Amino acid sequence: AKAQPRASFQFWSSAINTRMHDRLALEMALRQGLREGQFVLYYQPQFDFQDGRLVGMEALMRWQRTPAQLVQPGGFIEVAEESDLIVDLGAWALREVARQQADWLRAGHRAVPVGVNVSARQCLNRDLVQVLRLALGETGIPPALLRLEITETTAMTDADQVIGLLCELRALGVGLSVDDFGTGYSSLAYLKRFPLDELKIDRAFVQDLATDSHDAAIVRATIVLAHGLGLKVVAEGVETEAQSRFLAEHGCDTAQGFLFSRPLPLAAVTRLLQRGELA
Ligand code: C2E
Ligand code: CA
Ligand code: CA
Ligand code: CA
Repeated sequence: AKAQPRASFQFWSSAINTRMHDRLALEMALRQGLREGQFVLYYQPQFDFQDGRLVGMEALMRWQRTPAQLVQPGGFIEVAEESDLIVDLGAWALREVARQQADWLRAGHRAVPVGVNVSARQCLNRDLVQVLRLALGETGIPPALLRLEITETTAMTDADQVIGLLCELRALGVGLSVDDFGTGYSSLAYLKRFPLDELKIDRAFVQDLATDSHDAAIVRATIVLAHGLGLKVVAEGVETEAQSRFLAEHGCDTAQGFLFSRPLPLAAVTRLLQRGELA
């Protein structure tokens, strides 16, 4: 009976060592991937609920680890966010979107704002404003073609500091969205003081809209709140006609979800901007 805890402790500690080792190995592979240009952006279109027009897109990162293996964010973002790697990856994404917008503009395609996800660590890092200023300066794109998506949790965790940052970003002319709205704890007093353009309702609330009266109530109230604050509302994860109808009826502005389009690779999204139609 005495040997048991010790044996299980050894098992436990070696399991932890394996996890730490896997994590370190993954982090090193990610760093190398970034140096070797293995990251790509997919773009998920966003459509106006009233007239169906393409009004924006969200850039979503993928890791082309080998020619045959495309890793989704679920397989690397968390590890990147636990180290400073997310700061470099995030800066890469911002520069890449700015560069891509400039390419599309040069080719005469329709220009729509592209949302770029910004994680908490990037917001705490002093370089974010400088990275953006450089990306805008180098490409010369209209700043409003970039829209930074900051999660509600990031925004509220250090709200006083984040307000300062958001004001600096706003002064550069980029758009600002609160992402995953409803999953954190927003103080309405802060929400009022943040210089925002848009609020994105989290997929979790959209999912059960048609069957869960509480989720329906939250979504309705969020739309009213956002409009009252002068913000546009995007619904994430719209998958069914019933969800889409509910959101349109309640005045939600913008639709994003598999019902309309999955995230698309560059060539497909360029065709969309060029010809205005999905493949
Ligand atoms: P997010 O910012 O909430 O992005 C939306 C996620 O929902 C995307 O997953 C998108 O593919 C997925 N989605 C969109 N419509 C639907 C739908 O109708 N149904 C379902 N089931 N899913 C839908 P993805 O691309 O796997 O990204 C997951 C998360 O990874 C993102 O969540 C974001 O938090 C993070 N992420 C992605 N790219 C970046 C990046 O460049 N930087 C940072 N910091 N995070 C990123
Ligand atoms: Ca997002
Ligand atoms: Ca989101
Ligand atoms: Ca989400």
